Amino acid sequence: MNNFGIAIHGGAGTILKSEMTSEKEEAYKNALQAALDAGYNVLAQRSTSLEAVEAAVRSLEDCPLFNAGKGAVFNAEGQHEMDASIMEGKNLQAGAIAAVRNLKNPVSLAHKVLQFSDHVLLFGEGAEIFAKDHNIEFETDDYFYDQYRFDQWQKVKGSDTFVLDHSKEKKYLGTVGAVALDKEGNLAAATSTGGMTNKKFGRVGDSPIIGAGNYANNKTCAISCTGSGEYLMRSVTAYDVSCLMEYKGLSLKDASDEAILKRLTDIGGDGGLIAMDAQGNICMPFNCEGMYRASKNQNETIIEIYK
Ligand code: ASP
Repeated sequence: MNNFGIAIHGGAGTILKSEMTSEKEEAYKNALQAALDAGYNVLAQRSTSLEAVEAAVRSLEDCPLFNAGKGAVFNAEGQHEMDASIMEGKNLQAGAIAAVRNLKNPVSLAHKVLQFSDHVLLFGEGAEIFAKDHNIEFETDDYFYDQYRFDQWQKVKGSDTFVLDHSKEKKYLGTVGAVALDKEGNLAAATSTGGMTNKKFGRVGDSPIIGAGNYANNKTCAISCTGSGEYLMRSVTAYDVSCLMEYKGLSLKDASDEAILKRLTDIGGDGGLIAMDAQGNICMPFNCEGMYRASKNQNETIIEIYK
């Protein structure tokens, strides 16, 4: 049996260590554990890595602590516009949705796009109509209301500034994601986000862009990114890791470090990624104070927030 397993993230750029309390830390770690178990149990039952990453991301989307699904941040119009994607490494199939509103689990709609559409990326109202056609669950606006997110938005509302969730003042990072290797040796990746607080209406980040915030290829790796989306898109970060492995022969760790600690950092981007290769190796580099992250395989479970 191969070294099947899963890694997840709940966003780079965490609550500053100086502001973290033991209660909050426990709440984050419990939520990461629940998502990890949701994904790992799917793998243990011999289901696919695609189903495992969806299960893990759904669990994170249902938790208000993370900037995706229920916890999605407010855009400049006071709405929650969400982006998500999912990709299968064995055949390079992918599905993604951008700027959708009121969807309980955006990652499940991305999965439906992968399964039932000849397109890869559906946007806004068109994606919402597709969701209704496929019986995807919707929620009312108040399901997504969160006082903490609302207060974050009030600080920048009316300005041209858009900020990532949490972290240093005006440098908040969020998003959730999962990468997995199943018992058949297939990789998959999924990413879901509310984007950035006070982002322009219609702004789309890296998370639903295949190759930027999400990528999976059995020949190389599965990647889910988090951080400043404009920089991750310009660096084509997820695909960059895969290319560094495929064309340059780098290991998963060297390729991931190069993409985040060097290339993203050199152009001024903040963020990190989770990565897994076809041998089950996992790495989770980031260039900011913390990244909510966890991984589990047959040998160990890791749940961490700071460096
Ligand atoms: N990458 C996401 C975006 O730019 C945000 C994040 O990861 O915090 O939409």
